[in-house]
Amino acid sequence: MSSTLQERIAEVSRRIERACAKGGRKATEVRIIAVTKYVSPEMTAAVLASGLTDIGENRWQNAERKWEALGSQGVWHFIGHLQTNKVKDIIGKFQYIHSLDRLSLARELQRKAEAAGVDVNVFLQVNISGEESKFGLNPEAVPDFLREISGFNRLKIVGLMTMAPHEEDPELTRPVFRGLRELRDKLNGMGLTPEPLTELSMGMSNDFEVAIEEGATWVRLGTVLVGHEEES
Ligand SMILES: *Cc1c(COP(=O)(O)O)cnc(C)c1O
Repeated sequence: MSSTLQERIAEVSRRIERACAKGGRKATEVRIIAVTKYVSPEMTAAVLASGLTDIGENRWQNAERKWEALGSQGVWHFIGHLQTNKVKDIIGKFQYIHSLDRLSLARELQRKAEAAGVDVNVFLQVNISGEESKFGLNPEAVPDFLREISGFNRLKIVGLMTMAPHEEDPELTRPVFRGLRELRDKLNGMGLTPEPLTELSMGMSNDFEVAIEEGATWVRLGTVLVGHEEES
């Protein structure tokens, strides 16, 4: 990329502000997760030095070196599919997990969090688009899922996460993001959680403006923000 990190942050911030204005929202309602999965520990350090505080990684294997060097400096979000046998690697290190999509994973998160004496903020990943290739709970299954995990005292369910299909025209992703917001509002109306679900983790480089217009509170930005370094 020819632009600098500072220039990209400024440009993304402008685009977020515009999307908020269009959606009738305040820019402070939207937080950025800088997704560093494609970049080095050095670049990740530069991201944290730039004032961004939230780092997203999708695999412990990719995150480990960065976390060992920088773990204490930021808030770490695990955004990828999480295998049950990897929970032990990340518990106590990642404050947010965006990909809770099955009961066996909830049990393991609860167990390991309890053993470590920590709480973990969790998003339920929901497959709104219905694509077979996507992970996530079926929207209809979410109420029962919330009931089943209601006794898991170490898991603080903060909201919902989804991934939209990649579209050339991001406008086509709008129904997916709107669907996640409507599901959140419906669940809150059912009163299934001790606190209302406030957070919506949705929107990536290609579609974050549409996601913000539809209510995203966390956007997960890799390519457009921190770039995409070639593996050396
Ligand atoms: C990689 C990734 C992102 C960021 O992707 P970009 O398109 O590079 O912004 C966001 N969310 C998840 C779950 C990812 O795996």
